[in-house]
Amino acid sequence: MSRLQLITLDLDNTLWDVEKTIRAAEQDLIFWLQTNAEPAHQIYVSNDLLELREQTLRQHPNLRHDLSRLRIEILSNVMRKAQYKEQEARNLAKAAFEVFFAGRNRVAFFPGALEMLKTLSERYPVYALTNGNADASRTGISPFLKGAISSALVGASKPDPSMFHAALNQAGTSAQYCVHIGDHLHDDIRGADAVGMHSVWVNLQQSERADSDPSPTREVNQLSDIVAAVTAIEASLSA
Ligand SMILES: [Mg+2]
Repeated sequence: MSRLQLITLDLDNTLWDVEKTIRAAEQDLIFWLQTNAEPAHQIYVSNDLLELREQTLRQHPNLRHDLSRLRIEILSNVMRKAQYKEQEARNLAKAAFEVFFAGRNRVAFFPGALEMLKTLSERYPVYALTNGNADASRTGISPFLKGAISSALVGASKPDPSMFHAALNQAGTSAQYCVHIGDHLHDDIRGADAVGMHSVWVNLQQSERADSDPSPTREVNQLSDIVAAVTAIEASLSA
């Protein structure tokens, strides 16, 4: 019987390039605004956007962990500032968000991402563990997942232990039988370490790790090395 009982997996910048994905989604959104709500488009591409974002976060501080609802509220404030009436402002904000969200889930996987996910999912239960708002089923990864924990659901973001505990609780296992995989030294590796999970640091850029940085159980520089890293951690458990 396998000693490892759970894999938790970061999504953004672990399976796909999130900056590239968001940039393309923003372009779709801006084009849509230009065509469907020109006064709002003017505001969206101006310096007012940053101020509206800050204002929205002051109104709804808890939305820091729920990026979809945060974006809808920001877009609503953009529409109001563009003088749309309340109901129309809400409707336009939702329609604009849908355009963004379609692009947000049109992800460009890193090489080897789906093969790695498929192999892991045949051996272990895999849970997504994300601070972002990607929709697992719309990105196409849900066939490989037993569960998905998001910061929007938990009301806190990694490295907060409640994120990791939510996955452990749902899977019904404890930290020493779990490996967390992610690209971010603070959110993923320090977070996993703090609750007693093993970790694989996905370091595709081959960044240097400072002595003060948390140290992962294993490090990989390409996704095709993840399965071997997880297998090695499992072997160390049974030793
Ligand atoms: Mg990440």
